[in-house]
Amino acid sequence: MPDRSFLSWPFFEDRHRQLAEQLDAWCAKNLPVDHHDVDGACRELVAKLGRDGWLQPTALDPDEPGPLDVRTLCITRETLARHDGLADFAFAMQGLGTGALTLFGTPDQQRWLAKTRAGQAISAFALSEPRSGSDVANMEMSVVRDGDDYVLSGEKTWISNGGIADLYVVFGRTGEAPGAKGISAFIVPADAKGLGVAERLEVIAPHPLARLSFDNVRVPASALIGKPGVGFRIAMSVLDVFRSTVGAAALGFARRALDESVKRAAERKLFGAPMAELQMVQGHIADMALDVDAAALLIYRAAWTKDMGAARVTREAAMAKLFATDKAQEVIDKAVQLHGGDGVRKGHIVESLYREIRALRIYEGASDVQKVVIARQVMGAA
Ligand SMILES: Cc1cc2nc3c(=O)[nH]c(=O)nc-3n(C[C@H](O)[C@H](O)[C@H](O)COP(=O)(O)OP(=O)(O)OC[C@H]3O[C@@H](n4cnc5c(N)ncnc54)[C@H](O)[C@@H]3O)c2cc1C
Repeated sequence: MPDRSFLSWPFFEDRHRQLAEQLDAWCAKNLPVDHHDVDGACRELVAKLGRDGWLQPTALDPDEPGPLDVRTLCITRETLARHDGLADFAFAMQGLGTGALTLFGTPDQQRWLAKTRAGQAISAFALSEPRSGSDVANMEMSVVRDGDDYVLSGEKTWISNGGIADLYVVFGRTGEAPGAKGISAFIVPADAKGLGVAERLEVIAPHPLARLSFDNVRVPASALIGKPGVGFRIAMSVLDVFRSTVGAAALGFARRALDESVKRAAERKLFGAPMAELQMVQGHIADMALDVDAAALLIYRAAWTKDMGAARVTREAAMAKLFATDKAQEVIDKAVQLHGGDGVRKGHIVESLYREIRALRIYEGASDVQKVVIARQVMGAA
């Protein structure tokens, strides 16, 4: 039985506790799905999650506008990740892909949100380029104003949902100023002329991922999100909301690894007794539980702080993401060790967790970048 004691922490309200329980029951019935056709599985997951209402918190409800509830996003990601990494991915991308519209979109642009929240349209966030991932302010995608239109040319890479999305939020260089101050954000529908999938990318934990080419893609001026030149700020504001949720997904993977290890230690006999009686095994379990609880505290502190109205949670979110993803990697590695040969057997749950966790330490700001962010926040405040 997974540990639920964290739900009694003061960070939560009763609606969060109910959500955790109801979603867990939904997951037990509906997950995991078959991942063999990863595009098909993702489409199915978005449709199912949307149909049953779980995507509602991913974006603003234009009929009842209010801020995104980060605790809800985190609990949902943690719960989905515990059951199926691809389900977590499908959920997360509906939020990340539309975050710029929720935070900065016009009412007309926000009309997309009814569809993404219902699972009827898939969204994607196109920021990274082949020569600028961590160094995103250095992006090269050119955007030129031409009469009433903007024309986008260049490439985006590592785009989650690339190839299956209906809607891309794309960041490009409009050139109001050098570097970060010359970037703008646009909505680009998947059927825009000149937008193509240059390459599908395969990674160790498969999900839809692509390098996209933009060959003079023309969008109307109404596709601009916010003002010209504020795209970098838009991207950072979106990441500020969603960064703690990456930690929450890692926490879900880590909790599953811990649960599987506790079960294994109780069931497996070694040297005539349950493995759980070996003190070195107990030491591993204690380390894993400690890391899980510490990660949860950092994540839900960051989420609660944002929900209480903090304008930015840069330090809290960076700490939550860094600690939760790095520690989940260690927790899962211990789980693999405790499972012996089964731990590296293809298709075993801890083997898949081992593959699922790795990318979380790279995307939405690599662990090294989070350290730089934290250090700047700490030293800046001194
Ligand atoms: C599975 C997956 C999904 C992704 N999904 C998306 C998506 O949907 N949309 C999108 O726009 N992008 C996405 N990305 C891209 C992701 O954000 C980038 O891969 C990430 O920002 C790192 O950029 P890079 O790969 O170019 O590595 P680089 O920028 O070349 O960095 C390589 C390494 O250098 C180190 N490093 C970088 N900067 C510093 C620093 N300041 N100090 C110390 N060390 C540093 C880190 O160890 C880093 O991992 C995804 C990536 C992956 C792997």
